[in-house]
Parts: sequence; structure tokens; C-alpha cells
Amino acid sequence: MSASESLVCRRHPAERTYIRCGKCEEPVCPRCMVHTPVGVRCPNCVTYVKDPIYDVRTTVILKAALVGAGLALLGGVAWGLIQLLLPFLFVRLLLAGVLGYAMGTVVGASANRKRGAALQAIAGGSVLGAFLLAAFVAPFAAFSVYNLLALIIGVVTAVSAVR
Ligand SMILES: [Zn+2]
Ligand SMILES: [Zn+2]
Repeated sequence: MSASESLVCRRHPAERTYIRCGKCEEPVCPRCMVHTPVGVRCPNCVTYVKDPIYDVRTTVILKAALVGAGLALLGGVAWGLIQLLLPFLFVRLLLAGVLGYAMGTVVGASANRKRGAALQAIAGGSVLGAFLLAAFVAPFAAFSVYNLLALIIGVVTAVSAVR
């Protein structure tokens, strides 16, 4: 077999190729070859290259999401109870800022202080979850303009804490 002779891809028998996987030397066609920092790989070999990095990132995000859900639960009940005890507008707005900052900071800390859009979404989502739960605990004027303003303050402070 000469060097210029074309090979047949094992996954796509109709595809001819000159390229082999850099690890297992299986012929790979343009449809299934994967470019990695260490060269061309077949789909089989690339899973071993990619998975560890992917797993770490997924684990971090999942952990942050769990922490965010827990915070939403605790924060939501606290938010509602404080609103019941101290039904003043400035308390509501101040509380939203403090809660948002605290939730964003804890979510960020749970992800080893990594930053990113996913964490911002988790931080903002946690505040939204807490807000909805607080609306159940303290249903009065839950969706008033001021409460929505409080929600915005909470989400913005939470998101900026992980920015
Ligand atoms: Zn391979
Ligand atoms: Zn192929």
C-alpha cells in the first residue's frame, strides 16, 4: 500500500480519507475526525481527551446549581418572614440587595470563585426562586411595582457578585 493510497473510514464506508487518528491509527474521514490540541483524533479516542475537563466543569456548575437551589429555599423563607415582620418598603429593597449579594457570593464561592454566564444564570435564578418563595410566605403585594424593583435589585446584585 503506497502512502498516497486512500483509506476507507470505518464509520462511513463511503468516505475515502488519507488521515488516521493520531492515537489508535484508525482511518478517519472529515465527517468524524476531531481536531484536538494534540492533533487529529477519531471519535473513540477523543472522549478520553475531552471528558476530564468537561466533567470538572459540569461538576462545578452542578454543585453551584445545588447550592443555588438550597439558597433559594432558605433565602426565600427568610425573605418572606422578614417582609411579614417588617413590612416596610426600604426593608424590602435593602433586603433584596443584601440577599442578592449574599446569594451571589456563596454561589461564586461554591464554584471555587470561577466566573461565567452559567454561574450568573444560577445566581440570578436563585434570587428569582427565593423571590417566588417569599411571595408565597408573604403574599401581600407580592407583584407590586416595588416588589418587582426589589427583585431586579436582588438579581442584579447576585449576578454582579459572580461577574
Ligand atoms: Zn483513535
Ligand atoms: Zn467517517
